[in-house]
Amino acid sequence: MIKDLREINERRGYDVIVAGGGIGGIAAAVSAARNGADVLLIEKGLNLGGLATVGLISFYEPLCDGEGTQMIFGIAEELIRLAAKYGFDNIPESWKNGAEKRTNERFAGHFSPTIFAMALDNYLAENGVTLRLDTYVVSPVMEGRRCAGLITESCGGKEFFPAKAVVDATGDALVCLRAGIPTVSGENYLTYLVHGTDTEDVKNYIKCGRGAALRKWWSVGAEADGNGHPAGVRKFSGDTADDITEFMLLGRKMLFDQIKDQPKESREVLTLPGIPPLRTIRHIVGAYTFDGSEEGQTFPDAIGRCGDFRTAGRRFELPERILYHPDYPNIWACGRIVSAEGDGWEITRVIPVCALTGEAAGALAARFCCS
Ligand SMILES: Cc1cc2nc3c(=O)[nH]c(=O)nc-3n(C[C@H](O)[C@H](O)[C@H](O)COP(=O)(O)OP(=O)(O)OC[C@H]3O[C@@H](n4cnc5c(N)ncnc54)[C@H](O)[C@@H]3O)c2cc1C
Repeated sequence: MIKDLREINERRGYDVIVAGGGIGGIAAAVSAARNGADVLLIEKGLNLGGLATVGLISFYEPLCDGEGTQMIFGIAEELIRLAAKYGFDNIPESWKNGAEKRTNERFAGHFSPTIFAMALDNYLAENGVTLRLDTYVVSPVMEGRRCAGLITESCGGKEFFPAKAVVDATGDALVCLRAGIPTVSGENYLTYLVHGTDTEDVKNYIKCGRGAALRKWWSVGAEADGNGHPAGVRKFSGDTADDITEFMLLGRKMLFDQIKDQPKESREVLTLPGIPPLRTIRHIVGAYTFDGSEEGQTFPDAIGRCGDFRTAGRRFELPERILYHPDYPNIWACGRIVSAEGDGWEITRVIPVCALTGEAAGALAARFCCS
């Protein structure tokens, strides 16, 4: 098989390779390692956390149902607590110590994206995951419908990493797409955000002593529902570099136009997003498509439960079938690319649910190759 790829340097193989080091990929890699697999995580950027950190989202949507019952546990909970451990946070006191609480406050909160990203390096190392940064996964090598490993490109050239199982956590389903799994491209309103600070924030920080006061989101464009999308501007799919370039340039220009007229000594932009703030790029069409009509339904293959970050009191089970296409025995998807649409996509795309699907995908991949 590798005969046709002579100019590609073949590296040692792994049980499970996870493509993408966002929240979904981190959860998948740690879960696979805890289930006995030898795991490699490949990330095209230099920092871990994906949209949650590099993309500056830095708000962990709830792990509870809004009525006091925790819905998501496991790695998703480890990660929100890790996000809060070394940097600022505003997780309600009622959720700080674990057990279920009769409270309407949600188990959610802001965190420092830079500090969380650093903590994630340790988290992977402590869990025995091998990490390769600055390496772009280009395509899977397919033997029929089975994936034999991943081809990557980096400053060191093209490489081939053999794998017994693969988890696609790229946020744009690149591995699945190139393996031949059916996918659907998304549509996004224009939202652009940076983190900044100004003299008022600093005064407030000195007064209240809370780190969260130092850093604020500056955003332009649309809310998730499209409200605020600039008139006359089309929607973006984010599945080509041209599309992403136009999206980023327009968003930056809109924000710059707002900021440049402010007194230059009184404010500072702390960080620009290193990942385009596109909510959806592509998702797979799996063995089951979750559409959010499943409230209260149970599934024999449930991987866990979650609430709806938008509305208190809604409870869902998520079936394992949203993570794979039945014709592809050793490829799993997780995070914001699982098989979900409409309301189901809204429910599954947020950080805690990405961690939940990542944990499940990693465990399934490990079980596949280690049993
Ligand atoms: C504007 C906006 C606001 C949001 N607000 C919230 C919010 O307040 N709270 C919340 O919980 N969620 C929010 N979300 C959603 C949430 O942040 C994301 O859906 C979630 O973080 C996605 O995680 P992921 O791991 O699936 O994907 P990503 O975070 O996209 O991670 C994918 C990773 O894969 C890497 N990668 C991609 N392609 C390759 C490749 N070919 N090779 C190697 N590596 C690759 C990327 O660099 C990245 O690190 C928001 C999203 C947006 C866009």
